[in-house]
Amino acid sequence: MLTITGQSISSELAIGMIRFYRHKKTIINDAVAADPDAELSRYQLAYHTAMEQLHLLHDKTLEQVGAEEAEIFEMHRMLLSDRQFHHAILHSIIQDHKTAEYAIYSVGEELWNRFIHMEDPYLQARGADIQDIMNRLLFLLSGKKESSMDATEPFILMAEDLSPSETVQINSSKLLGFITRQGSPYSHTAILAKTMNIPALMHIDIEEAWDGHLAIIDGEKQCLYIDPSEELIAEYQLKQASIEQKRTELQALKMLPAVTADGHSIALYANINAPTDIENAISQGAEGIGLFRSEFLYLNAQEYPDEEVQYHIYRRVLEQMPDKHIVIRTLDLGADKKSPYLALEPEENPALGYRAIRICLSRPELFKVQLRALLRAAAHGELHIMFPMITSLWEVQRAKEMVEECKAELCAEHITYGNPVLGIMIETPAAVMIAEDLAAEAGFFSIGTNDLAQYTLALDRNNARLHDFYDPHHPALIRMIRMVVEAAHKHNIPVSICGESGADLTLTRAFMEMGIDSLSVAPNALLPLKKTIREISLT
Ligand code: PEP
Ligand code: MG
Repeated sequence: MLTITGQSISSELAIGMIRFYRHKKTIINDAVAADPDAELSRYQLAYHTAMEQLHLLHDKTLEQVGAEEAEIFEMHRMLLSDRQFHHAILHSIIQDHKTAEYAIYSVGEELWNRFIHMEDPYLQARGADIQDIMNRLLFLLSGKKESSMDATEPFILMAEDLSPSETVQINSSKLLGFITRQGSPYSHTAILAKTMNIPALMHIDIEEAWDGHLAIIDGEKQCLYIDPSEELIAEYQLKQASIEQKRTELQALKMLPAVTADGHSIALYANINAPTDIENAISQGAEGIGLFRSEFLYLNAQEYPDEEVQYHIYRRVLEQMPDKHIVIRTLDLGADKKSPYLALEPEENPALGYRAIRICLSRPELFKVQLRALLRAAAHGELHIMFPMITSLWEVQRAKEMVEECKAELCAEHITYGNPVLGIMIETPAAVMIAEDLAAEAGFFSIGTNDLAQYTLALDRNNARLHDFYDPHHPALIRMIRMVVEAAHKHNIPVSICGESGADLTLTRAFMEMGIDSLSVAPNALLPLKKTIREISLT
């Protein structure tokens, strides 16, 4: 039995078999080939195998999902067999004596670059297909075996790292927990794990040889046991039973209000990443949704979800919680949340880069699809739209103008829409400093403590090495939150906290003393939070 310590995101535990996840990305070391003929054969074999794989994938998708989705693989076959593309690769191998990997990479990159700079969003999105084809060929050349995460048995996933888009594509019904070498407790992957209510252990020196071995993740002790003894398994099975028991006891609080022992109340909402999280939010007594991270709809798709698809999803959220307070955040893409079809160019400082409202305001064709879908959905409930990553007043004003433009369009097209409340996230120090000005424009504030900490403490929230420096209790942050509450209340707008600090029970009293109106947390954090609130006395 091996015992290894790491960094945990929650006190959850899991017992199960490890499945090792191999990334499809390949590193290209050599540009020049020693034997061009051998390179040619390698490329031809990879090419034919890829064509065959795509054919099988097409048929499988057609049978199990649908014709539209299956089309993607047919289109990949067409792109792969495109004469120009194919010949450029052959030329690079035969005439320029490049390795098969280098030839695919350089030809593919050039084509990808051409696509992503096209005006037409449809053609732009084809850049992602080129990348997908390149990755398929490069992966085949690497000779590695592909990981399939279509598990039939529950499993613990072990990987070097997981991007949020990889995470959302794993069959979560069988997923017991994550073990990764990279990542940090404040990354979006960690947040996803919390919403899924599973443990995630990071900073572990993972080994592929552990694939298929039994493991225990103890989130509380922040450790991993590989090949645990019979006694340890029995001990943890008992622990699991006791955790279940405590959960059942907490259920007694579900229908009770979140009110302190001396009568101060606060609203408790849930953070969700998909409509499928709502059921759990309701079962944990959520009074509404304080943050629906709508970007996960985009990360989970192969194509831009169109207005109709988005409208039905948002409407479903509102109808599942009728007459409840629902906050849907507009696209917060960029930084670690990238999807290949969005064709976002690599950046030197992604967290300080082209993300969230910056993408939305500069790509109105993308943003307006979402705004129209949200406005239409707003006719079916108490919708609040929230704009992320605000730093300047003009951004809020421009976003509001775009909402008005969409309303005018819908009106002209005789399409029914509602009038949602428009609010903003306060998650940059600039927004804190101009909170009074912003409060005059916004219908509500929600404080994103994850990014606020990142930008205030000058600390990359995804960098596992900085864990010891990431201090959500830093006096700068507490003072900033207080300033935001004061600014909001001066202008009579409500203020919430939807970052991870909202679930930090050691801060609950401080937040209530400041007068925070609501807290929005992962569904499974709701009842422990309510228990803490009901035990507090503010006087
Ligand atoms: C935050 O930054 O605190 C927040 C809630 O948004 P996200 O974690 O999705 O960036
Ligand atoms: Mg944020």
